[in-house]
Amino acid sequence: MIRLFVPDDLAAGSPVTLSAAQAHYLRDVMRRATGDDVALFNGRDGEWLSTIASIERKAVGVIPKRRTREQTPGVDLELVVALVKRARLETIVEKATELGVHRVRLAVTRFTQAERTNVERLTAIAVEAAEQTGRLDVPEVMGPAKLEAILKGWPADRALIFCDEAGDAPPILEAVTAPRERSRSGPGAEVESSARPLIRPGIRPATFSHEGRRAPTSGAVATSILIGPEGGFSAEERAFIRALSTVIPVSLGPRILRADTAAIAALSLWQAALGDWRP
Ligand code: SAH
Repeated sequence: MIRLFVPDDLAAGSPVTLSAAQAHYLRDVMRRATGDDVALFNGRDGEWLSTIASIERKAVGVIPKRRTREQTPGVDLELVVALVKRARLETIVEKATELGVHRVRLAVTRFTQAERTNVERLTAIAVEAAEQTGRLDVPEVMGPAKLEAILKGWPADRALIFCDEAGDAPPILEAVTAPRERSRSGPGAEVESSARPLIRPGIRPATFSHEGRRAPTSGAVATSILIGPEGGFSAEERAFIRALSTVIPVSLGPRILRADTAAIAALSLWQAALGDWRP
């Protein structure tokens, strides 16, 4: 079944007019006709089995019939990625969408070569990937901002997984799944054991421990994964990132990965360990 993302509200019997590009795709590429079914989603109202009611040269009208899937909240997983070359960035947005990210933020860092990118094109790639992958929403692609601006005032309850190729960070799986060792230092007070320096205060304890994670999509703490540019991060940037209270520096193995590979690997491992790949 062809799935299409639309901005409109979806309700039984309320007609939706598709964009010119979607009309062209349905009519000229997929050779659909009046009476054929398509599935519509908008990120809010679930997925709707819908029927093509009219096909004209520039406009296709579709009528939602019944809701076939309820909207469910996804994981709050964000990718913060330095602006890398266009083809790689497009790959990253497509793969991040397939891997279930909620938002992609583009960062300008000391060693990024460009300060601009075509956010509209990246958003179109995210829409296409969401349609193809069966998601009920489309991740937001936020235009480029300076890394300092993104990290300044970083929320105390959002974990920042810092993919650091320098080699002194623990392996990602170990860093994100290690249960926090807690000891009681007084009535009701819990302090973090210094044996686990990577799980810093500010990250809710239950999140990175196995107990207390019964609901996979809501159990994981809001998390961002940070990937640097081709040239890596500067020494100052590394120091600044590592000083954040919710940072978890991680290694992705002994080889230096390209930014796209690093993003795919980190997102996959997080989804498998803490996210919606869990049953
Ligand atoms: N600084 C490197 C290349 C950076 S690779 C150089 O110039 O040789 C791009 C980004 O991918 C890095 O900034 C990092 O975020 C991530 N990355 C690549 N390999 C990694 C690894 N083995 N462990 C952790 N992160 C890695």
